Amino acid sequence: MNILFKKIKAIGFDLDETLYAPNEEINERIRNEIAKRILQNKPDLGNIKNARNLYETNYKKWKSGSLTLKKLKLENPEQIMHECLSNANVINLIKEDPILTIILNKIKEKYELFLLTGSPSETSMEKIKKIGININIFNNLIFGNTFPEAKKIDSTMFQNFLKTSKYKPDEHVYIGDNLKTDILPAKSQGMKTIYLGNEIQEADYCIKDIYEIEKLFL
Ligand SMILES: [Mg+2]
Repeated sequence: MNILFKKIKAIGFDLDETLYAPNEEINERIRNEIAKRILQNKPDLGNIKNARNLYETNYKKWKSGSLTLKKLKLENPEQIMHECLSNANVINLIKEDPILTIILNKIKEKYELFLLTGSPSETSMEKIKKIGININIFNNLIFGNTFPEAKKIDSTMFQNFLKTSKYKPDEHVYIGDNLKTDILPAKSQGMKTIYLGNEIQEADYCIKDIYEIEKLFL
């Protein structure tokens, strides 16, 4: 158990690329779906490849799919992202993860667990099931469509969640792979944060692999 997390009562998880590893094929499919939508909106781009390049260049700057679409002036960017995620049909590319399932079951004996994801409930539930995680392991489930209008990036989803939690903000830790949509908004609401990826200053702790949570919390 890491001393940094001594006060923690509830552990929260992002879903995409946190509870399952990033996968090139999944990324390709999603980004091509997004490029199709950009091309529909900006036919002057001429072809999918140009639309994809425009998206990639802007994504590097904004680091969030919906924010990138918003900056490219597409209407209802969150809705478009949700549609692209479900059209990309990524469920069958997600692998079962018995190791993570065992770790979560152990952690569950000492902490409350919650899922807080920008993805809509239907696809999120399918992904969780595909990984092999029993959805009932989570005391609280917050999906992209749980609170209308609420988003991760502006921290409104975290605010809404904290209102329903019996613990104080700093008794929660949130684990995610995205600085702008996971770490910064959770931190702004007083939660502790763990970043999954390379070392960054903004998070309380960084891990390279989701399995590292076992030694952090047990
Ligand atoms: Mg993620």
